[in-house]
Amino acid sequence: MEGWRSLLTAYENEPKEVTSENLAMKRSLFKQETVMQMGRDFHCEVLSQPLLADYTSIGIGGAAPFLLLPKETRSLEGLLNELAGENLPWRILGRGTNLIVRDEGVKDIVISLTKLPTAPSFSGNTVKVASGYPLSRLVREAAAKGLSGIEFAVGIPGSVGGAVKLNASSFGGSMEEVVSEVTLFSPGKGIIKRKKSEIGFAYRSTSLEKDEVILSATIILKPSSSWKIQKEISYLQKLRRERQPIGQKTAGCIFKNPPGISAGHLIDALGLKGLAFGGAVVSKKHGNFIINRHSSTAKEVLALIELIKERVYKALRVELEEEVIIW
Ligand SMILES: Cc1cc2nc3c(=O)[nH]c(=O)nc-3n(C[C@H](O)[C@H](O)[C@H](O)COP(=O)(O)OP(=O)(O)OC[C@H]3O[C@@H](n4cnc5c(N)ncnc54)[C@H](O)[C@@H]3O)c2cc1C
Repeated sequence: MEGWRSLLTAYENEPKEVTSENLAMKRSLFKQETVMQMGRDFHCEVLSQPLLADYTSIGIGGAAPFLLLPKETRSLEGLLNELAGENLPWRILGRGTNLIVRDEGVKDIVISLTKLPTAPSFSGNTVKVASGYPLSRLVREAAAKGLSGIEFAVGIPGSVGGAVKLNASSFGGSMEEVVSEVTLFSPGKGIIKRKKSEIGFAYRSTSLEKDEVILSATIILKPSSSWKIQKEISYLQKLRRERQPIGQKTAGCIFKNPPGISAGHLIDALGLKGLAFGGAVVSKKHGNFIINRHSSTAKEVLALIELIKERVYKALRVELEEEVIIW
């Protein structure tokens, strides 16, 4: 951490001409020092130049200038206000399971909420859970308490925050059906509570703004017998194992389903399962999954996505739209 400071001091002590490169270098070092200091002030774990490939389920992506992991909610709020004040752009990373990061990485500071305290708090049929909490773990904890309604989410590897933001859904259930309220933080606006009707849930999306960070969600479930819920969970897990390339490096479904049809079925019908581009290959189990099979680059995955879109459009006049988020 002290490295940037000594670099900056050395840079400032060294006599030099005022050129645009020197000014750009000075600005960049100041920016790095500012972010390091913010990280310290707001009790964050600070990673400089982390490879985002290490933080995505598909295992692809270049670096971010910084990854900041706040350890307290109040620190996160202070940090976001400070970043806004310094005009430093940022973005939120969940568990990186619906994300493809380009090989050149991102210029924004990336903030992960996975180090915030997350233990869900149950009260009757209601559970309040922090956004960094793993969704699948919540399903199991609810089941153990005899609470039903969120079984559909078992096996979705994302965080609660990512699942709310993208209105995650499967097996006929969706976050929209169980979320009653979210608590957000937005720099300048502070803490905001939004009822379900104000979240703008739609198919794999919400109307939440880019600078609105989901801090927690309140979820309402129904009492049922733990045994029945466990049985349903085991059944859905079996279906997932049969239908999806579980355990492989993927980013979940690549495309949204066009109205009334499954994107995976269209891809399958055109014989595109197994189609490869470099190290990226369309799963043979599920046409809507791309696997990073042999140290694929983002460029290869994105080229394969374009190829699939082109083939589907040419053959069926259907325009596939990406579900996966591309940074
Ligand atoms: C094997 C596999 C199976 C999957 N199955 C399903 C499935 O059945 N159904 C389904 O819907 N999805 C599925 N997914 C996709 C993915 O798990 C979900 O979309 C999940 O909800 C994404 O959550 P995340 O935490 O990984 O978000 P990320 O991928 O990290 O982020 C996704 C987006 O959400 C934003 N975001 C994340 N957290 C917050 C926050 N706290 N506040 C504001 N914005 C935030 C990010 O900025 C980004 O824009 C699957 C993925 C895999 C790899």
